[in-house]
Amino acid sequence: MVTRVCISINNRCNLNCRYCHFHEKKAHIQACDMNVYQILDNIKSHIRKHGICSFKIGFVGNGEPLLDYDNLKEYILYIQDDLKSGTISAYTITNGLLVTEDNLRFFKTHGVSVGFSIDGIKSVHDALRCGSFDSVMSAIELSKKINGKYPPMNCTVGREVLDHAEETIVFFERFDSRITFSRMIGQYGITMEEFRQFIKKAAARLNVRTGGYDCTMYGGMCGAGINNLYYANGKIYICGNCIDIESPFSFNTPLDKVDFRVGPFDRHLCYKEGLRK
Ligand code: SF4
Ligand code: SF4
Repeated sequence: MVTRVCISINNRCNLNCRYCHFHEKKAHIQACDMNVYQILDNIKSHIRKHGICSFKIGFVGNGEPLLDYDNLKEYILYIQDDLKSGTISAYTITNGLLVTEDNLRFFKTHGVSVGFSIDGIKSVHDALRCGSFDSVMSAIELSKKINGKYPPMNCTVGREVLDHAEETIVFFERFDSRITFSRMIGQYGITMEEFRQFIKKAAARLNVRTGGYDCTMYGGMCGAGINNLYYANGKIYICGNCIDIESPFSFNTPLDKVDFRVGPFDRHLCYKEGLRK
């Protein structure tokens, strides 16, 4: 049963990170009308119908969510009763450039977690993420000031991070915060084995997100077709990495009717990479 979704509320970004796989998939990302309120209504009905106590929504996707902060704010207000009762938990992930005291206070008031994308040490981050290290670090410090602790962070692990593995781990140690490492895929990608070796080393010293049916890109098992979905481009996809696989499901399809008929496979491996073999 679906208990998690990610919703891409826009298709635009104010950075052009070297490895961004959404940019690589530009041909599959079109501007479209996707009524997010209708998606949220479907989620609410699904929760009530199945008596779900904990449903997770990630306002994350093909772009920078804070570029559409006014809309994001309205979506959060639309689900505020469920956020308050804990039936829905929500999060977003930002590159930090548009973070302000006001928007961080709004997210805090409504219990929405804000994660930051940062690829470790300055030289690596700046090389991959358009020289944005100082901006994202200021935003992270602002988040600490407002929330009293450092926020969760997301680091994409590619060749440069592997080449600076020890420095990267030391960099994250200072925050005492939950770190999600994700495997770089696409033309600059690293192998699953290289990624797993890095995660193993990092997990010995950091609070690292791993395990469960989620995504091999984050060190877990592939959750394709089990309990999570990805909304973007007016459609519903298996996951954020599968937007180039044609989907028959429009964004307003009731969740119970979404079935990608994913057959059995080794969930330690990526479903999509398996399709390519
Ligand atoms: S901030 Fe995220 S969406 Fe934007 S270019 Fe970088 S990786 Fe892509
Ligand atoms: S298909 Fe691949 S990218 Fe998608 S959830 Fe599974 S492991 Fe992750």
